[in-house]
Amino acid sequence: MKITDAKVLITSPGRNFVTLKIYTDEGIYGLGDATLNGRELAVASYLSEHLIPCLIGRDPFQHEDTWQYFYRGAYWRRGPVTMAALGAIDLALWDIKGKALNTPVYNLLGGKSRTGVMVYGHANGKDLEETVDEVGKYIALGYRAVRAQSGIPGIPSTYGVAKGKFHYEPAEKGLPPENIWSTEKYLLHVPKLFEALRLKFGDDVHLLHDSHHRLSPIEAARLGKSLEPYHLFWLEDAVTAELQEGFRIVRQHTTTPLALGEVFNTIWDAQTVISEQLIDYIRMAPLHAGGLTHLKKVASFAEMYHVLTGCHGATDLSPVSMAAALHFDISVNNFGIQEYMLHTKQTDEVFPHSYHFEAGFLHPGDAPGLGVDYDEKLASTFPYERAYLPVNRKLDGTMFDW
Ligand SMILES: [Mg+2]
Repeated sequence: MKITDAKVLITSPGRNFVTLKIYTDEGIYGLGDATLNGRELAVASYLSEHLIPCLIGRDPFQHEDTWQYFYRGAYWRRGPVTMAALGAIDLALWDIKGKALNTPVYNLLGGKSRTGVMVYGHANGKDLEETVDEVGKYIALGYRAVRAQSGIPGIPSTYGVAKGKFHYEPAEKGLPPENIWSTEKYLLHVPKLFEALRLKFGDDVHLLHDSHHRLSPIEAARLGKSLEPYHLFWLEDAVTAELQEGFRIVRQHTTTPLALGEVFNTIWDAQTVISEQLIDYIRMAPLHAGGLTHLKKVASFAEMYHVLTGCHGATDLSPVSMAAALHFDISVNNFGIQEYMLHTKQTDEVFPHSYHFEAGFLHPGDAPGLGVDYDEKLASTFPYERAYLPVNRKLDGTMFDW
């Protein structure tokens, strides 16, 4: 089999998505997600201008060699744009191989290691009371695990609090919106939220929280310690991810489990936090970690250090990415949990898929390949519009991490 063509498809059914479609001489095509939130056209251009010309004529079954060709073959390598483009190619090749062999991708990754993939939903509210109510709605829908984010008294807007509740989408069209931040107000508020949640819902439901890379190591240590009575499933992205050594301080002070890595691109980004057992869950997802070929290696490395997986699953990852994550999740031994944010109805219609939710678990379905298709005609009715994630400033105007 030979690759005959590939094209980059861009659509915006509620938010922007970049999709790579690879064609073969046997009539089989594969799909890869190439979406990088707020930088979509950079990946599209990297694919069209630099990678696709080198893909034509290659055997799609040799995805390890193709991965190495684009990774090692590029002197200027790594980084989110490069690795998202490589991830899209890799996912499309796994999709082609599954379709050609008439089997779901999880069978190529080792088969099923479990009956379903436990997911967590995103509950959020403008204040503590509303957030408690929203967590209750997810529990009523059958979720076993819920992430809780709440508005903070004295701060007009913050990360994780939606306008549309079930469809949280922080990216906005136009120029980047500005948020305001106070670490002190946040640190005082979050333990009260989890105290209220445990009082209301008891000990059985798994509760998660995301600090979105906004704390210093000692602040994260304080938060982790103050949350210990409420036994979180994890505290996510406690500290900016560039300084892996910073997690040593957090780890020395708290037993709250830590999750990190949605912004990581390669195994090297996670080397210290995994090998020193500074985290409990690695959040890298197939697309932004250069595809399933590379993520399998990250999972095997993590397995040696008792680190479980917890793939990023925000709405800025298309259903192609979600499907790839589910094939991965159901097959690796050291799976922990999968993030699951609902896409809009229009997105699901552009990307018909075989995965489905049942009683707190997602199932990848048994369609060959990744089990996702792309309705090009419908997609073309949703043209791309430039959009950005917000930026963030402290109360005194200082630029800060969003
Ligand atoms: Mg996060």
